[in-house]
Amino acid sequence: MNKRAMTGFSSAIMLAFSLMLTSCSGSQSDAGENSETAETEAPVTEVTEAVTEVPSVYVEVQNSDIHRGDLILVNRDNEYSDGSNPNIVNIYENKSDSYKVDRSYMQLDKTMIEAINSMLDDFAAKTGITNILCNSGYRSYDEQKQMYDEDLENTGLLESDLVAPPGHSEHHTGLAMDFAIDDGYEYPALRNEGEYSWIYSNAAKYGLILRYTEQNKHITKYRAESWHFRYVGPVHASMIYRMGVALEQYEGFIKDFQYDNPLEYKYSDTEFYRIYYVPMDMTSEKTSIPIPYECLNNNGAEWPYTVSGNNSDGFIVTVKIPELSPDYDETFLYMFGAGGETVMPSDDYSSEDISSSEGETIGENAGEDSQDESGEAENEAGNDEDTGW
Ligand SMILES: [Zn+2]
Repeated sequence: MNKRAMTGFSSAIMLAFSLMLTSCSGSQSDAGENSETAETEAPVTEVTEAVTEVPSVYVEVQNSDIHRGDLILVNRDNEYSDGSNPNIVNIYENKSDSYKVDRSYMQLDKTMIEAINSMLDDFAAKTGITNILCNSGYRSYDEQKQMYDEDLENTGLLESDLVAPPGHSEHHTGLAMDFAIDDGYEYPALRNEGEYSWIYSNAAKYGLILRYTEQNKHITKYRAESWHFRYVGPVHASMIYRMGVALEQYEGFIKDFQYDNPLEYKYSDTEFYRIYYVPMDMTSEKTSIPIPYECLNNNGAEWPYTVSGNNSDGFIVTVKIPELSPDYDETFLYMFGAGGETVMPSDDYSSEDISSSEGETIGENAGEDSQDESGEAENEAGNDEDTGW
């Protein structure tokens, strides 16, 4: 389901058909698969005696594209700097009937809207529930600045601990959404309980991750938010979910894998991927991204690939491959201590009571004092100040 075509970012890439023979020093996974692809018109005279050469193709990307793509990391350290995402569109005009939108002018990246449509259509079909409310989507720098300044004014603080500084909110990307529930008269934040738990268990299939959890707040440096979901695409969401890591940890992990030593992932019994990181070429305005030669066969139909910037120092390439290496193993899924399976805890929302100063205790748990539900009201979703990250 929701298998998005592997296009997007890659369509912005200028294909440089400079078929090159790169001498592959000893890559197990790449070597050997291309023994028949020796029909090159490239100037190969000087590499005659080489035996283990693997044909590669390079696509050129602008270094400025580092700030674009489904995997850009926006946080306290990485500022969002691409203010011209052409995929930002009106949600109301593009949404399905399975959920609501708080404000008719709210905007979001088209890809994220499609993911939400699919997810909440399936959720509605399964549960009959259609009262999920898209509470906060795309935010411009100015909107975030206004929220930030208002928070400082209200709190008297010099630095907000509730609202992300302008430039550092994931909402700038258009790939994040805060969900609430419209219960008829109030708008409690979405949380992982009751029938809504389905969303937390299934979001990854639609490409979404729960971005800020109680478990990762020491890494994200933002408080836990049970309502804030981010699009990264189904393949990466699946891995992040199964590994139980923050996006920050995941992107650090991916950097260990490069073209000659890629990560392989069994997404399902029939879908396999190769993932690797390519550092930005600091000596040029552009970076040459190596991709397997097969990516060009049949206009890319056989080995489709995508490239995304990471918003700091390089690019992440995701290639769909027809089969895994014989020595594929999934132990990497466990390396951060997660079980390699469902790792969304049932209480991964904030246990901090941030409602006291902001007023409005919301949600049906507002008065509870049970330990694990902690009774907090983490989201002032009823007003527009909902969440600041
Ligand atoms: Zn948010």
